[in-house]
Amino acid sequence: MRAADAFDVNQPPLFEGRNLYLTDASLQRATAREGAPWATEQLAAWGSVLGRAETFALAARANRCSPELKTHDRFGNRIDEVEFDASWHELMSLAMREGEHSSPWVQTRPGAQVARAAAYLMHAEVENGTQCPLTMTFAAVPLLRRHTEATPWIAQTLLPRVLAREYDARSLPVAEKSSALVGMGMTERQGGSDVRTNATLAHPNGDGTYRLHGHKWFFSAPMCDAHLVLAQAPAGLSCFLMPRMLPDGTRNAVRLQRLKDKPGNRSNASSEVEFDGASAWLLGEEGRGIPVILEVVQHTRLDCAIGSAGLMRGAVAQACHHAAHRRAFGKKLIEQALMQNVLADLALESGAALVLSLRLARAFEAEAGESERALARLATPALKYWICKRAPFVVAEALEVHGGNGYVEESPLPRLYREAPLNSIWEGSGNVMCLDVLRAARREPAAVTALFEELSGAKGADSRLDRQIDALGSMLGGNLSEVDARRVAGTIAVSLAAALLLRDAPGALAEAYCASRLGDGGSGALGTLPGSVDCARVVAESGFHAI
Ligand SMILES: Cc1cc2nc3c(=O)[nH]c(=O)nc-3n(C[C@H](O)[C@H](O)[C@H](O)COP(=O)(O)OP(=O)(O)OC[C@H]3O[C@@H](n4cnc5c(N)ncnc54)[C@H](O)[C@@H]3O)c2cc1C
Repeated sequence: MRAADAFDVNQPPLFEGRNLYLTDASLQRATAREGAPWATEQLAAWGSVLGRAETFALAARANRCSPELKTHDRFGNRIDEVEFDASWHELMSLAMREGEHSSPWVQTRPGAQVARAAAYLMHAEVENGTQCPLTMTFAAVPLLRRHTEATPWIAQTLLPRVLAREYDARSLPVAEKSSALVGMGMTERQGGSDVRTNATLAHPNGDGTYRLHGHKWFFSAPMCDAHLVLAQAPAGLSCFLMPRMLPDGTRNAVRLQRLKDKPGNRSNASSEVEFDGASAWLLGEEGRGIPVILEVVQHTRLDCAIGSAGLMRGAVAQACHHAAHRRAFGKKLIEQALMQNVLADLALESGAALVLSLRLARAFEAEAGESERALARLATPALKYWICKRAPFVVAEALEVHGGNGYVEESPLPRLYREAPLNSIWEGSGNVMCLDVLRAARREPAAVTALFEELSGAKGADSRLDRQIDALGSMLGGNLSEVDARRVAGTIAVSLAAALLLRDAPGALAEAYCASRLGDGGSGALGTLPGSVDCARVVAESGFHAI
């Protein structure tokens, strides 16, 4: 062997340079099944753009060259700007042209949500930070549309630009831009899950606008043209729309204090902000902030589930690619029995997340009836919890399939690994989601009925699933306490995944999923210890100093 050849030996070819849609038969099948067979051409085009080596390079660069905060200009004037690398802007342009932030609100044909979910899922296979402002903008549209009469600026200026597809990064009043993005600010230093503790104050000006004083501890994508924020008005916690630039061209009094130094999601800017009398419009009634923002949050939770499904799909696809080319002990890795087991287990998890997330997207379609909406009420928190919770395990294992190569920053795997826990934290962390599942199960019988209607479509296909559905029925009909919440949410998600796989892709994958995932209510997830365990005592006896 010549010395020069030694560099090529036993290293797989580049993963890049493939069509992420056309090389994923499960994604194509799920997209068609859930109602968007018409989107094939468009998704194939998007899959081709995303799969290019250039797009992978943009993703790597956007995360290596993180945004920088510029609070002041050289003369000491406050500017509150965030400077992004050109790669960020390029990725944002691509995704907005695809319509990830708006397409189902404009193109309202049946399957529009599913088509957009498939596009978003593929994007998540490649880059994740850019998805934050895209998701928040997407999620804000139904709420903005509901308030066009009370706030003409929304109808005349903001909405048409939110729905536009030409990315415009300039810091200008919205009226002077070709498109606009919307963010969300709820979390404060003293509490994120419990937003009732929000301390930001909103003083009415008497003309429908308010002045806000206070802070937000997490305020992602601060360069968005407007943010939905919660603040305490005289009648209680209320939802506001706060523009970044005022119509007269001056900056709103939103002071960027710091950018968070995050392990992952580094292409995206997440800031801490102070409101120093910032102007904002009230959305809805004073004191009704939580119900108003909940509609937005429901859509961001959908995206967390789709995003984590995409993250897993990207990691597992790369693991399979690596194992198909790398040899050890005289055979390809993919031919080694134990590696086959690992890859199969990864494929099951990723396959389940894929069918679950696209099924969930269907429940958000414009024409979805009562039953679908009821299903979404229960399935959104359950699947957001479950899919996001599986991602770190799956990505870590997929990384290990690459051996040492997977732990080196030139590989995309370390970035996916650092990103993986995030979707589970924001927009309702694991426990909060599971408690929400319990709440829906207790208070909304229509949601439980819709869930069992969906599951009944697979009745008789597998006796293990039949038993699990019966057990779930007893569980939901019983006296549930908070400590059961993770077990319940996990059982709902796994049962739904098994039902979808059995109905729509019966075969080895569905059989293996049922054989390995049914029965214990959650396949090894943390927080599912049996009720007989005295958890408080175990924690107390753990010896940690702080307890
Ligand atoms: C990178 C990043 C970007 C973000 N961007 C934004 C943004 O743009 N806008 C925004 O508003 N927020 C944003 N967030 C904040 C995020 O939504 C919150 O961190 C999240 O909602 C959790 O709130 P918290 O951090 O205050 O944790 P806490 O509310 O203190 O929760 C801590 C833990 O306790 C658990 N817990 C809470 N209540 C209960 C209960 N009753 N029983 C059992 N367990 C419970 C939670 O599940 C969690 O695991 C961002 C966060 C991150 C990491």
